[in-house]
Amino acid sequence: MPAVATTCSQSSALPVAGAAEPGRAVSHSYWQRVGGMPLATAAAPLPHRATILIVGGGFAGLATALRIKELDASADVVLLEARTVGYGASGRNGGLMSPLAAPIWLTTALNNPAHARAINLLERKIAAAAEWARHIAPEADVSAIDLALESQGPIVDAGLAHISRTLDAAGLAHDWPPRTSHRGPRSLVLRAHTINPYRLAAGLAAEARRRGVTIAEQAPVRSIDDGGTDGARVILVDGREIQAARVILSTNAYTPSLALARPPKARVVRNYMLATAPLGPELLACLTHAGGTSGGFVVELNTAYVFYRVHQGRLVFGGIEKLRQTEGGDLDVPAAVMRGLRKHLARSLKGSPLPDIVEAWGGRYHMTSTDLPIIGPAGESSAIVHNVGYGGTGVALTLSLAPLAAAMALGRPVEDQALAEIRDTMAGTRMPVAGALRFAAGVVGTWFAERRPRR
Ligand SMILES: Cc1cc2nc3c(=O)[nH]c(=O)nc-3n(C[C@H](O)[C@H](O)[C@H](O)COP(=O)(O)OP(=O)(O)OC[C@H]3O[C@@H](n4cnc5c(N)ncnc54)[C@H](O)[C@@H]3O)c2cc1C
Repeated sequence: MPAVATTCSQSSALPVAGAAEPGRAVSHSYWQRVGGMPLATAAAPLPHRATILIVGGGFAGLATALRIKELDASADVVLLEARTVGYGASGRNGGLMSPLAAPIWLTTALNNPAHARAINLLERKIAAAAEWARHIAPEADVSAIDLALESQGPIVDAGLAHISRTLDAAGLAHDWPPRTSHRGPRSLVLRAHTINPYRLAAGLAAEARRRGVTIAEQAPVRSIDDGGTDGARVILVDGREIQAARVILSTNAYTPSLALARPPKARVVRNYMLATAPLGPELLACLTHAGGTSGGFVVELNTAYVFYRVHQGRLVFGGIEKLRQTEGGDLDVPAAVMRGLRKHLARSLKGSPLPDIVEAWGGRYHMTSTDLPIIGPAGESSAIVHNVGYGGTGVALTLSLAPLAAAMALGRPVEDQALAEIRDTMAGTRMPVAGALRFAAGVVGTWFAERRPRR
């Protein structure tokens, strides 16, 4: 692995016109723009009845539709999307398929073999889902890359050392340089995948349509009446209704806008990103893990959760999380957030003059208290299946766990033993107070051990 650069030479960004202006209304993310997402599509005619009705055309809804068709090619599947497929977080994210998609288990796995095993099983399922996505949507640039978790200080370094031991216990390959051979902040490096988010959403939708899924865009749902074993009545904002035997709710952080008798328990988190003008070779070389020849993905572990990658020579950078949007629309970046993003960008570029920022956008995701998704019936004998709460690792989780939602939609058992085990471990995972304390104690112990003078 290359060493982490500590200084960069002067900026070598190529100038472009049209830098992102704070306060300007945003209609697209970078991915949606380069992927050609239409701002609107025509409202489609709808059936009055459906066997399986999926609400939401992001990765969760689209991957579930495809997995249903894989299990039963003749299944009658209708998907309703409020705007256009890939409009939400699935068309706006960083595009990382993280192999550590259930971070909660990292705090417990050293003392909980079931969690260690689940980390391993999930990582394999994510790698398999990446191959699946590559096959279905070659245009989505599914690429094997290095993911670097960069420590920005001694405590985080100690935390990463602890995570490295946890990954050893879970049997996950990774690189963690020994302290003796490395000065300065270290990076824990794992194998991962990146995708082009909007292109993947569009590719999944195209394949779902090809396999006979009816996808209706510009079809926002207002409410869902749960009739239990009699099915559910789905009422659209324009008053149209569809009676469905089963409804798969895949509306992510937009779920609170729907009238539901039993809403899922998750909160809405907003995240913001920007894309720069193409960078020159010096600045690219300075971004050791993301630029140069590695084409990887970097997560900086500091007080913010900064992440970035290089796409077609541009830096795509994000990481400020907020629970409330204080101004603007769904994609807009409030001025204070933009200032924060610039500040973090300057730090990541180690003092080099900032490259032009040509685009900035926001998005929202749905997060549960454990960071694990909610995939299951809304209540006993409910006709509604929740398929939400995929959080900040939702690219990996939606694509790898879609077969669980698909089996529920069809009322079938999950035949894949590894997936069934992951599901059971997820269901048994609670907020790990003891595990978190042990994790913190382990980090502090490592920190003290590393400060001890070496002989
Ligand atoms: C800025 C940002 C960066 C991120 N980066 C990463 C990353 O690098 N890696 C990662 O793993 N995760 C990342 N995430 C999280 C990830 O994008 C999400 O977890 C994932 O895309 C969720 O997919 P989804 O299908 O559940 O939701 P969405 O993609 O939000 O799909 C929900 C869909 O439902 C539709 N909808 C909403 N309401 C209705 C309604 N009433 N009727 C009909 N349709 C409706 C919406 O229009 C939307 O298209 C990021 C998220 C954001 C916001």
